[in-house]
Amino acid sequence: MNGEIFQLPGEGGSAIVVHRPGSPTTSVIATYALGFGHDPTDAPGVAHLYEHLYLATLRAIMTAPIVAQAQTHADTMSVSATVLAEADRELVTALTTTPQMLAEGTIDDDVRLRECRAIDVELSEWFGNPLLVAGHKLAALATRRPQPARFDECRIGTSSTIATQDLQTHAALQGAAFPERIVIVSPRPAEEWLLLAQVMRPPASAVVPATSHIGCGRLGSRGGVPGADSRVYIGIPLHLSNPEKAEAVQLAAQMLLHGQGPLAEVGDRVGVRFRGGSVVPTAGCVVVTGSWVIENSRQREAIGVAVSQLRGQISPALITAQASLVPERRCAVAATSATLATAIDDWQSGYGISPTAVGTPSVDEIDYIMCAGWKRSVLVGAHPARSGPF
Ligand SMILES: [Zn+2]
Repeated sequence: MNGEIFQLPGEGGSAIVVHRPGSPTTSVIATYALGFGHDPTDAPGVAHLYEHLYLATLRAIMTAPIVAQAQTHADTMSVSATVLAEADRELVTALTTTPQMLAEGTIDDDVRLRECRAIDVELSEWFGNPLLVAGHKLAALATRRPQPARFDECRIGTSSTIATQDLQTHAALQGAAFPERIVIVSPRPAEEWLLLAQVMRPPASAVVPATSHIGCGRLGSRGGVPGADSRVYIGIPLHLSNPEKAEAVQLAAQMLLHGQGPLAEVGDRVGVRFRGGSVVPTAGCVVVTGSWVIENSRQREAIGVAVSQLRGQISPALITAQASLVPERRCAVAATSATLATAIDDWQSGYGISPTAVGTPSVDEIDYIMCAGWKRSVLVGAHPARSGPF
């Protein structure tokens, strides 16, 4: 890789700087320990609206051109932004100012309503895609998290009912003020970012666990997984570990979804085709979700039996073949400052490609991760179901 990675000192949050001499752009990803799992039960959707307002505010206060996006997951909200290298200081100032402005409640009502409408359009797309909703519900089941609240309660047309004080309460949570992780890819030497590590570090006195917020941490309502009348779904949680194991976790997820992997094998045994699936990032895990389309109840039963008989293994030759492609992927993620920042952010969370590693993850390690996930998998729509319905 062209560049060096440094971890800046600082408690309570980690700052990673990649010094990339000659890069024309600077990319920053700030990840906050705040997601829709922290939504108050009486105001679901607050975290999502917070994400939209964060991005709108960031764009409004930047004078330099910026390419930015944000994403809310169960436990995190991350903002990624790329600017021309000479605007890097302005970007960092904007990233520290934005949460303050949101906490103070200085957001224009017109902006709030505009973003509420944007969310309603997004949600109509979410609800229009049963597989997407099923994937997130399975992820919630597999990790026993209250994510269904996002889908069951944050209905289309309701985002505008989220009051300014709901947002302010949310913004006052410790996780909203300071990123738990920040990744910077820039042509500036790492020492020049030292001050940033201090600015971004949470003051020791202000640590308030998010769970102490009234309304947090309670389960939302539960609803069925859409499409379960014609499919059997599986959710396989793979633990996020540490950056050293990130590649093994990613390869394990890929292997599970592979055309010759264990989920396809279940389909072969039962005589139904595995329809593929996706990987849902969630609390402390990534959840591999997949489904088989079934025609009768005998197949429902057979899938349950096949899953309980298999161990989630795959041929070592296939794992080796996939692992051998990793060095090429490492080169690919280093192509731009933005792709590199994303790769490092994923890698730090314990899932993804390591930009610095040499060698490839071992077959045993990948095998172990797949088998451990398989044991904790949940099935919806199969008999014997290993987990109760929602
Ligand atoms: Zn959105």
